[in-house]
Amino acid sequence: MEQKRLDECVQALNSRGVKLPCPRCGQKSFSIVAETIIPINDKPNVVAVGGPSIPTIIVACDNCGYITQHAQGPLGLLKEGGNNG
Ligand SMILES: [Zn+2]
Repeated sequence: MEQKRLDECVQALNSRGVKLPCPRCGQKSFSIVAETIIPINDKPNVVAVGGPSIPTIIVACDNCGYITQHAQGPLGLLKEGGNNG
């Protein structure tokens, strides 16, 4: 992830009060690992490429690796021309 984008993500999380420690180990240091999408699928046995999805950022605890995701939409992080969220 580019530094500019990383800064946007960090700022978005901070501005919304995302400050609680890791729910698994209690440490307070996290890293934004990557951006990804969560595919939305009404038919669990069918893989649909290019279907609807939720863009997210992946955040991992620096101590235990516990991973959480934040939808980009509420954080104002959706890229122009991107998917909805
Ligand atoms: Zn942890």
